[in-house]
Amino acid sequence: MPESVAVIGAGLVGCLAAVALAKRNYDVTLFDYRHDPRLASTSDRNLRSINLAISARGITALQFVDRAMSERVLREIIPMRGRMIHDTLGHQEPQNYGLFGECINSIDRAVLNNSLLDELEAYPNIKLQFGHKLARIAFGARHQTCEFTTTSAAGPQSDARARFDFDFVVGCDGAYSTTRSQMQRVIRMDYAQEYIDCCYIELYIPPAKDVNPAYGGKFSISPNHLHIWPRHNYMLIALANADGSFTSTFFGPWSLVESLDSTSKIEAFFVENFPDAVDLIGLDEAVYAFENHPKGALMCVECKPYHVAGKAIILGDAAHSMVPFYGQGMNCGFEDVRVLMQILDQNHGNRARAFDEYTAQRHKDLVSIIELAKNNYKEMSHKVTSKWFLLRKKLDTI
Ligand code: FAD
Repeated sequence: MPESVAVIGAGLVGCLAAVALAKRNYDVTLFDYRHDPRLASTSDRNLRSINLAISARGITALQFVDRAMSERVLREIIPMRGRMIHDTLGHQEPQNYGLFGECINSIDRAVLNNSLLDELEAYPNIKLQFGHKLARIAFGARHQTCEFTTTSAAGPQSDARARFDFDFVVGCDGAYSTTRSQMQRVIRMDYAQEYIDCCYIELYIPPAKDVNPAYGGKFSISPNHLHIWPRHNYMLIALANADGSFTSTFFGPWSLVESLDSTSKIEAFFVENFPDAVDLIGLDEAVYAFENHPKGALMCVECKPYHVAGKAIILGDAAHSMVPFYGQGMNCGFEDVRVLMQILDQNHGNRARAFDEYTAQRHKDLVSIIELAKNNYKEMSHKVTSKWFLLRKKLDTI
């Protein structure tokens, strides 16, 4: 009889973990408190960025789990071979990532998540349970009992509860993980959470009206660069989408965002700092987004260990939420799945040994990447400009 596992969270990491476990013949049930995001009627929308940079780290993990699947789910990626730095006069400066065409790749979060969910349908040993919010885990010697509050797609049923027993639990339920807090009740887990003083707001650059011969699509700026408008302690970035649009994100200190408390202040701020971006986004649209779109907070989470003796383990943001400036949160979450599966295979499925080994091996890497991500804010918002701005100033005065 195959062993049963509850994967909590049908986000990016949970879906990949479910496939990897199903391939190892576990009986997988994947739970999410959201309703199926593939259904048009679902209004659940993630607050987080709607496109992401996927790098070699994430692609290698997808290929490790299933090469053919990785080709299918990555078919819409747009390679970005470097940064494109925009100054306040609208000049653009490309900075390649490598000498040999090394790239990171832009991908729509919803497309990737939905494609991974579609992939799960091919596995008879994966069951999807939407509308199930993990509330509590009772860790036992033989079974882990997971208790959920349930909602129907029609609306919450406040008292509805469901309870299931599993051999083990894999928590992929994001930065505010309930799996993690349940584990903290039974083990001595070191835990640190830090909000950084940075708010993010999403903006949108629509496709050009006509095909742009320079780029072979309806792109108004190069789709093959990560666009950055670095302004020292704040910045704007933009990543291309397949339809010619760009998802743009403003990052800046909360005090700055809160000081822009009127339409005229926001207009003046955008026109002064991001004039060429305003041409692309539209001034009214930029102001609307600034005033009405959700304002996201950025949080780092570090913890150790990541597991309860063969009974539960956390992966992805549940174990290591990091700031997005290194573009590695999801990539590392995918890598967690690859590393854990390799260790499980090496230990012939002995979970107790494999989970111990995973924490021992993975922790130092994750701590390092969380630190690198924090440091890359300075790199993206400030260091990329320093020399170039000085040179440009000199040239402009000649
Ligand atoms: P999540 O995506 O948070 O998914 C968790 C899932 O668990 C959700 O579906 C949620 O509904 C579900 N859930 C939560 N609680 C429960 C519960 N109690 N019961 C049941 N289900 C539950 N990473 C990159 O690699 N590249 C990038 O370019 C990048 N850009 C980013 C830009 C921004 C602005 C931000 C904020 C993040 C960015 N990231 C990026 C990080 C990336 O978004 C995360 O690392 C990634 O989403 C983590 O995936 P996850 O599956 O671990 O968690």
